Amino acid sequence: MGTVVDAANKEASGIVTDKKPTVVFVLGGPGSGKGTQCANIVQHFGYTHLSAGDLLRAEIKSGSENGTMIQNMIKEGKIVPSEVTIKLLQQAIQESANDKFLIDGFPRNEENRAAFENVTKIEPAFVLFFDCSEEEMERRLLSRDQGREDDNIETIRKRFKVFLESSLPVIEYYNSKGKVRKIDAGRPVEEVFESVQAIFSPKNEKAD
Ligand code: ADP
Ligand code: C5P
Ligand code: MG
Repeated sequence: MGTVVDAANKEASGIVTDKKPTVVFVLGGPGSGKGTQCANIVQHFGYTHLSAGDLLRAEIKSGSENGTMIQNMIKEGKIVPSEVTIKLLQQAIQESANDKFLIDGFPRNEENRAAFENVTKIEPAFVLFFDCSEEEMERRLLSRDQGREDDNIETIRKRFKVFLESSLPVIEYYNSKGKVRKIDAGRPVEEVFESVQAIFSPKNEKAD
């Protein structure tokens, strides 16, 4: 569709592609069950799961020059600058043969949201919001046992604060656009997935 000049500009910027995938943002507090439910959605609905947190942790392990900075931010429960996270998400999208993605744990703040929109021009199809009490999330995180440096009570408290102050406003933004599908995530995994399934089932998929 684009001109030769368009194509050259895209190549020069290195950040825009012709690929316009379907994206669902999966949001909710730490420990609300995003990763758990995304694994189920992948099995049943053919999406590719991209967890921003997993991509950042992989970046630390890869020995990248940003690794130490990312590690320090995660330990403090702080949000890594958008350019770093968006680059990782874009690479993963481009490397995938799929055109349907669950982007889990992103956008985490207004900066994440606006930068992703500006850079990729991708609008989410909808936003899945796992609503769960802090008490329940705290219980789950303290027994997650995946060796994560941020699953300790001190960092968990900081993550809850960041969620309330920075991430909830993003959910409110999408809510005002009618894009949020809220799920009571305080129930057992199977019950939560029943609600998730209802949202992804074909009759609802194109509801908006
Ligand atoms: P998130 O990705 O939102 O941080 P996870 O999916 O990693 O959350 O879940 C956090 C912990 O809680 C994991 O140990 C997971 O097995 C457990 N968990 C997930 N969903 C539920 C649920 N509905 N009920 C009880 N435990 C859950
Ligand atoms: O989603 P998850 O719990 O795996 O995220 C772990 C940490 O990764 C967050 O607390 C934050 O420090 C970092 N992160 C981020 N930006 C995102 C997602 C995660 O900085 N969009
Ligand atoms: Mg997770």
